[in-house]
Amino acid sequence: MTYADYVTGGRSFLLEKMAERLSPKRLAHCLRVEEASIDLAKRYGLDETKAGLAGLLHDYAKELADQDFLTLIDQHQLDPALKAWNNNVWHGLLGPYVIQAELGLTDADILQAIAYHTVGSSQMTDLDKVVYVADYIECGRDFPGVDQAREIAKISLNQAVAYETAATVAYLAQKGMPIYPQTLDTYNAYIHYL
Ligand code: GDP
Ligand code: FE
Ligand code: FE
Repeated sequence: MTYADYVTGGRSFLLEKMAERLSPKRLAHCLRVEEASIDLAKRYGLDETKAGLAGLLHDYAKELADQDFLTLIDQHQLDPALKAWNNNVWHGLLGPYVIQAELGLTDADILQAIAYHTVGSSQMTDLDKVVYVADYIECGRDFPGVDQAREIAKISLNQAVAYETAATVAYLAQKGMPIYPQTLDTYNAYIHYL
């Protein structure tokens, strides 16, 4: 299987569309997440094409205007409570709607991995975990704890999810930022792996 089995036009079409939607810096991050996702898929015996594609597209909606997200919430009749959140939460959860409409990607596994890449879920597939972790450990990341996250990712996907979620929750709490309930569900479901 190749990307062209999931999206008409394949990888070159996607890179063109991404260049229209994303800054060069963000595009470079997406390419590194694609690579990290493929590495993790190889390590854990998962579908490398699905992992690479989900990693590549995970931040496709990141540079949409807030108003565009608010419109999407109405258009798709999503819980109006979602409107109280912000880009951090929207770009992942709503990314699949933008990706389906603009890129024609319909694979449910790939779209779910993109939806969950920021906040996770208490019920993550291995593909979801790969993209969630790859986004955190891609080779361009440089923050305290990232090397430990990289080491853990070589040993256990579940432990890597737990480590990343604990660090994110601690970071948000320390900054006095709101924590999305689904992020806390992820924390509660995975923390015992740490
Ligand atoms: P990025 O898109 O590659 O920058 O990475 P992510 O999509 O993983 O995260 C985007 C931002 O959302 C980061 O600054 C996270 O700390 C933040 N974030 C993650 N979970 C939550 C949450 O539950 N609530 C809020 N407010 N922010 C979150
Ligand atoms: Fe993101
Ligand atoms: Fe990202």
